[in-house]
Amino acid sequence: MSDAPSKAFAQRIFSGIQPSGGLTLGNYLGALKRFAVAQDKGIETVYCIVDLHAITVWQDPANLRHATRELAAGFIASGIDPARSILFNQSQVPAHAELAWIFNCVARMGWLRRMTQFKDKAGKHAEEASVGLFAYPNLMAADIMAYHATHVPVGEDQKQHLELTRDIAIKFNHDYGVDFFPIVEPVIEGAATRVMSLRDGTKKMSKSDPSDQSRINLTDDADAIASKIRKARTDPEPLPETVEGLEGRSEARNLINIYAALADITPADVLSQYGGQGFGVFKPALADLAVSKLSPISTEMSRLMQDVGEIDRILGQGANRANAIAEPILQDTREIVGLIRSR
Ligand code: ATP
Ligand code: MG
Repeated sequence: MSDAPSKAFAQRIFSGIQPSGGLTLGNYLGALKRFAVAQDKGIETVYCIVDLHAITVWQDPANLRHATRELAAGFIASGIDPARSILFNQSQVPAHAELAWIFNCVARMGWLRRMTQFKDKAGKHAEEASVGLFAYPNLMAADIMAYHATHVPVGEDQKQHLELTRDIAIKFNHDYGVDFFPIVEPVIEGAATRVMSLRDGTKKMSKSDPSDQSRINLTDDADAIASKIRKARTDPEPLPETVEGLEGRSEARNLINIYAALADITPADVLSQYGGQGFGVFKPALADLAVSKLSPISTEMSRLMQDVGEIDRILGQGANRANAIAEPILQDTREIVGLIRSR
């Protein structure tokens, strides 16, 4: 089966972030910073706070409300302009959940059983995990396809879910004999597509990691950022002169990639500056750079959080615009599937 779309779909960018905790440096470099840049490409950008994904693991309701608004503030403070992009929270647009149900009936059990995120998140307690955590990738496919999005900027960790999204679109189009859903292109670019935990170079940095020391939060103050970087796990060797020299040194590679992404230069550029130096020199330079890039964002986030009424208004307007795109696509999907809707 060919996976190339035979029909030309208008380009549209979609991506989402869960309000499952505070934003991390990983979310900023792997997602938010790139979402802001994508607004300049002349393509419509749709950005979603995926609250229905967040509740796949228990969220205290008051915390969820706060995290949703704070994430909206994080998007705006990172440069996402609610006038140029559509910014909203998922649960305000019912098409996501209904399309996800249809995709639950398209995706196969075997496909979902292969998803490594479920295995990582459920760990040894898979039997006690929510059904939603298992079905999560089908909702993610619905998020994207409710907008006929063609391009999805994400971090490396979401690559497998985007492959599944493509498989769902291909199977839907094939089973119903249509060319209705575009086959999405993952956009995984830059020096920091997978920012690693500061405590363990084999694990990705995550907002839901129980250890606060594992991550830099966008709301951390300068002292916290400097202290976390100073304590970040590294090895005793000086930095290499070339990128090849980072082979087998995942913690060193991680810090170099973070520096490169923050400074908008390549890892090779960073090493041409710091190669041969020890971490005693490099870590304070990285901390200064991180503080200079992140503190304006956290200041702006706290300013925006002083008026949650305004944040809710922005999300409401974004939801109306999102709904205007998603509802007709959902209605066409219902018709393709044979679901009657009396008028
Ligand atoms: P959780 O631990 O609750 O899953 P998370 O930190 O993984 O939170 P998500 O909301 O799942 O954040 O993902 C939001 C976006 O951030 C996605 O595009 C994801 O690929 C990206 N992302 C998450 N973690 C990293 C990371 N460590 N490095 C780069 N990108 C990341
Ligand atoms: Mg995640």
